[in-house]
Amino acid sequence: MKTLIVCPNHEGNFDCTPFCSLCEGDQEFYSDGVVAEENTKGEIFAYDYKGVTIRPEGNQLTVWKSALGYSLFSPDNKKYFFDSLDEVKWFIEYELTK
Ligand SMILES: [Zn+2]
Repeated sequence: MKTLIVCPNHEGNFDCTPFCSLCEGDQEFYSDGVVAEENTKGEIFAYDYKGVTIRPEGNQLTVWKSALGYSLFSPDNKKYFFDSLDEVKWFIEYELTK
């Protein structure tokens, strides 16, 4: 399902640049299967794509490998960084079909 989400990175200032990992300067983006998770104040703190949690960190998006079914305590449990939502989705699709 495509839902237009106002980019949370600009915090209402609509000053995102093309380097924004979520909206790439559009100030809003189509979630396209990505569900925003809000805290009780209505602030977006994470995204969910096909059951995998994506957390924004600065200008990047991160996914822990444990979110993809790997053991939390495994040495393989690494954090991956991505520059765009499309990259994250591609990575998750790839990992889920392995
Ligand atoms: Zn943005």
